[in-house]
Amino acid sequence: MSKRVVVAVDGPAGSGKSSVATRLAERLGVEHLDTGGMYRGFAVRCLRDGVNLEDEQEVAALVDGTDLEVSSGRVLLDGSDITGELRRSDVSAASSVIAQYPTVREYMVTLQRNMVKAAPSGAVVEGRDIGTVVLPEADVKIYLTASEPTRARRRAEQAGLSVRDGQKEVAMRDARDSARKHSPLKPAGDAVIVDTSNLNLEQTVDKVLQIVTGGVRD
Ligand code: C5P
Repeated sequence: MSKRVVVAVDGPAGSGKSSVATRLAERLGVEHLDTGGMYRGFAVRCLRDGVNLEDEQEVAALVDGTDLEVSSGRVLLDGSDITGELRRSDVSAASSVIAQYPTVREYMVTLQRNMVKAAPSGAVVEGRDIGTVVLPEADVKIYLTASEPTRARRRAEQAGLSVRDGQKEVAMRDARDSARKHSPLKPAGDAVIVDTSNLNLEQTVDKVLQIVTGGVRD
């Protein structure tokens, strides 16, 4: 694809966003930005500092002193690589708590927009609010979804949890991410909804690629 392209990929936990976005970016030859990794990175900071996650002011006070960098699929916190910590269950749960707070979201959205602006060929950006808030002007918006049992199974496999624990985690994060006041998880009005319950990864990537190439004019 010769034109610069920006694709927003949103969806709930376990919908396949990360795997699909990674491969889609490879196929398009553009950057991949995992915004969930950024919320997880900030959650690691909050857990390390031992702040009360339910206290918005305590959490917001950490934003200014936090140096978060994301590059080539790695997340650096104050210069050290914390990628290995991001998928821990306590980090997953904490990320959806701190993601409710507007100060945290404003910090993330600014970083995310700057990173996309700096990507010469464009980017595939995955998250919860990319099509609705971060990049409302994205060339193509995809909303990935899948049945709850499918998402629970995928999350369990990814995090090494039992299916029951995977199901609990997904249900808790979905409820919080969808019900929050600021930037709740929901498809943008112009997003294409793709249900991945009965598709494997390759089939999903092919389908999304077709949507992207059909939706972007050279
Ligand atoms: O996508 P991932 O599961 O890594 O995201 C972790 C958490 O970060 C989500 O449950 C959600 O609360 C938050 N998040 C968000 N907005 C984004 C990306 C992630 O609120 N754009």
